[in-house]
Amino acid sequence: MKKIWIQELWRFGAIVGSVTLVGVFLGRAGLFFTLGLMLYIVDQVAQLARYVRWFESGKHAHPPSMSGVWGALIDITYRQFQKSRKRKKRIQRLLKNFNQFSAALPDATVILGAKQEVTWSNEMAELYLGVHQRKAIGKTITEIIDLPEFKAYLESGDYREALSITSPVNEARQLHLRIARYGTKKKVLSAHDMTRMHRLEAMRKDFVGNVSHELRTPLTVIQGYSEMLLDDRGLTEQHRQMLSQVAEQSQRMQRLVDDLLTLNRLETTEPERRWFQAVDVGLMMQRMRNEARLHPGAKALEYALEVQSEQGLFAHPDELFSAFMNLVTNATKYTPPGGKITLRWFVDKHGRGHFQVEDTGEGIPAEHLPRLSERFYRVDTGRSREKGGTGLGLAIVKHVLTRHDARLKISSEVGKGSVFSCDFPRSTVVELVPKLVVDELNPATK
Ligand code: ADP
Repeated sequence: MKKIWIQELWRFGAIVGSVTLVGVFLGRAGLFFTLGLMLYIVDQVAQLARYVRWFESGKHAHPPSMSGVWGALIDITYRQFQKSRKRKKRIQRLLKNFNQFSAALPDATVILGAKQEVTWSNEMAELYLGVHQRKAIGKTITEIIDLPEFKAYLESGDYREALSITSPVNEARQLHLRIARYGTKKKVLSAHDMTRMHRLEAMRKDFVGNVSHELRTPLTVIQGYSEMLLDDRGLTEQHRQMLSQVAEQSQRMQRLVDDLLTLNRLETTEPERRWFQAVDVGLMMQRMRNEARLHPGAKALEYALEVQSEQGLFAHPDELFSAFMNLVTNATKYTPPGGKITLRWFVDKHGRGHFQVEDTGEGIPAEHLPRLSERFYRVDTGRSREKGGTGLGLAIVKHVLTRHDARLKISSEVGKGSVFSCDFPRSTVVELVPKLVVDELNPATK
């Protein structure tokens, strides 16, 4: 750097000095000194003009050779140009990689800004969601995906579960949509094609439904004849035993088929809102207790009812009864003689309704709790069969509750007992119109 200033000083000295020297010879040193200074300024302006010309020319690869301060400035600028060229190339490479990567993604991906506007999307987003890579930029996503369920999902802010929708641009395509937040108020939306899975699932449901239906008639015949034959007094003891096993097993299959059909109906149909009405849960609990007492294992059990609220539930009465009754039957099945079963109904301070079945039974080890409501999941298969269980009861409960926007919560302690709680949202808790409900639910009044 010091060298540059010395060079510049030499240049100044050479211009101003030589002109002043001429002035000394001519006896006009002062004037020629001023002339020398002006010449130096003109030289500087000329160099500045050369620099600006080069700077603006775009031909940065060929810097002009200049000395002194201007030479140094050219050097610095040239180095900056080279650096930024490398940086640009690196960014271009990264961008190219990113574009190739996003094009290879099997899922549609859309990036949303703070106002839900599209800031970026990949090719699949156009195919699945109709979000055009260029034309959609800046548009609000709900303008493009104009589906009420999507709007509600986006506004809810709860993105823990994926949303299943039919593609807005192709009715045959089923999508699983997910949203994740990142940065400040930004979101990334991704959609996965679930069409194949949906088709398989529909086939499975149809298959289970058809098979169960087809099994019904033969089962009724087997059961009917085996029971009829059992009445024959001339039977040997051995034949009687064989026949009663046939009757027992066909009864078990009948229960299984009934449960499978119930589950199939719950899975394949939408809840029929026109059947929904205000249900008196307290009254339903009395009916459940009466039915539970008829269960073979119920004789040695104590049943307690705790109705802590006079409000009811806006629900499908038959579905609700079957779900609650499943819990009561389970409690009866898995509680040893001498135990107590409490049916409880209350509305909490937030207005949410809770129906609970508490037992003092064998309890369930914690590791089984998350999977308990899966189809055919049993803690002890042998024991469940021996008690006449199908392994489908809790799956039915869960489905019915989902249709009522409610959730099943299970807490249990081995050796102490379990609490099965059906938690209903505020929107389903209603004031009762007593007469109507009594007529509907109490068979005695019909
Ligand atoms: P199952 O027909 O076998 O009773 P469910 O789906 O109703 O099928 O229940 C699944 C499993 O959960 C049962 O096999 C049993 O192991 C367990 N279970 C359900 N309710 C209770 C309960 N009240 N106490 C202990 N275990 C229970």
